[in-house]
Parts: sequence; C-alpha cells; structure tokens
Amino acid sequence: MKLVIGWLYPDLMSTYGDRGNIISLQKRCQWRDIEVEIKSITLESKGEELLDCDFLFMGGAQDRQQKIVSEDLRTNKGPIIKHLIEGNLPGLFVCAAYQFFGRYYRSAEGEEIPGLGIFDLETVHPGKTKTRCIGNIVVRITNNSAKGGSASGGQLPITNYLVGFENHGGRTYLGRNLKPLGEVVVGYGNNGEDRKEGCVYKNAIGTYLHGPVLPKNPHLADFLIKLALSKKAGGEVELKKLEDSVEWKAHESLLAKLSLKGNKNE
Ligand code: GLN
Repeated sequence: MKLVIGWLYPDLMSTYGDRGNIISLQKRCQWRDIEVEIKSITLESKGEELLDCDFLFMGGAQDRQQKIVSEDLRTNKGPIIKHLIEGNLPGLFVCAAYQFFGRYYRSAEGEEIPGLGIFDLETVHPGKTKTRCIGNIVVRITNNSAKGGSASGGQLPITNYLVGFENHGGRTYLGRNLKPLGEVVVGYGNNGEDRKEGCVYKNAIGTYLHGPVLPKNPHLADFLIKLALSKKAGGEVELKKLEDSVEWKAHESLLAKLSLKGNKNE
C-alpha cells in the first residue's frame, strides 16, 4: 500500500507547527510498513499535481501569508481541490486553511479574502482590539458523519475527545447544513460563542486545533489514514495497532490538566 499526501503550501502555511501533522501521518504509516509519498504543493506547483493525491493537508498561517496564498489557491488550485473534496477525497485543514475552505475570511483590517466556498461557512476577524482565541482546547467529538466514501464506512475516532492548542483572531460561523467536528469543552472553538469547533464535510475535516493536532490525538491520525487508504483500495483497510502509550500519555495529561479524564473507549 502507498499513501500519497498532498501538502498545500508547506513553506507558507505552517506558522503554528502544523508540519507536525505531516510527520505524524508519515511515521504512523511507516511504522506499519505503508509507503508514504509527501508531495509539496507550492505556489509554483500546477493544480494537476494534486490529482494523484490520496489525502490533502494544509496548515495555518497569519493574515499576511493568507493574502499571498489566496490568489493562487482560488484560481490555480481551487477548482481541482473542489472537485477532489466533492469526490470524497479525505483531507485535514487547520485554522487559516479551514477558513480558506469557506466563502471568505475578513481580516482584522476589514479586507475580505475570498475562499474556495467548499465549506458552507465564513470567517470574520472582529478587529485587533478584540481578544484573540488563544489557549489549550478540548473538544468532544459530536460528529461521526465522516464516512470513508463507499469503502471503509469509517466513523470518526473511537474516543470522545480531541485535545489541542488554538491561536486565531478570526471567528468562524457554520451554515445551517454544515456539521461541526465537535463541541467545545474547554477553549473558544469556531467563534467563542456557539460552542462549536471545526466542521466535517464529506471526508474533509476543518479544525482550529493546532498543537499539532495529530500527534496528541492518535485516534484522529489513524482515522484519517484508514479513510484515505480505504477509499484508495475501494474497500475497508484494517490498520495494524501501534504501541501508542506516549501519544495517549500526552493526550490524557492535557485532559487531566484541564480537569477532564477522557474515556478512550466510551
Ligand atoms: N490569520 C488567521 C486568524 O488569525 C488564521 C490564524 C491561524 O492559522 N492560526 O484567524
């Protein structure tokens, strides 16, 4: 088996350590003798380079990098990304990337950066004087609608919680038909008002969780690997169980620190 991961704008959209998610996916495949190819998709890349990817990843960035990327993302790569996501390609899009998959991101200066319009959402930065949404975050997963296409029927992870770190000024509001990834137990989440965090649309997940999110949430990492491999194989792919005591210790320590004990098998 081989997993081809398309990493969008690795040089520009990885301000908050989100490259750690690529490392997590790569190692969790290699530890299972699954071949991994990481394709860096940069400003110079042609959109067609995305066509043989089994999974897409894009990380977060400041407003400045978002402005640099937005033109190329929308005109050069956007139509192909939309076609792939609508065709159930799995992907993980963190913070600024999550914002970009909505209709627009309105920056602190009131400049509207158009998005891809794939996710039914919009994001507005309330201005530099308002509190930034920064800190540890715990999310209770409420959405297991991410399916592995016709193949794996993959449900979202077995445990109830995701832990991470958030750092965003933008407030994201989901449209009526777009389900959140989960509900905020500790932290701000999408906008600090409606207790929603992230979104799930077909096999694409948007989230504000940095950290990076996958090393401390091995269940989510494996869910995404399984989803991508099963869709590629056209049938459910079983993943060999890994020795994850360190990962779960990191996960549980954050839950304990925030006075929660997640039950992994609830
Ligand atoms: N610049 C965006 C905001 O402040 C996204 C930040 C990020 O990717 N962490 O909301």
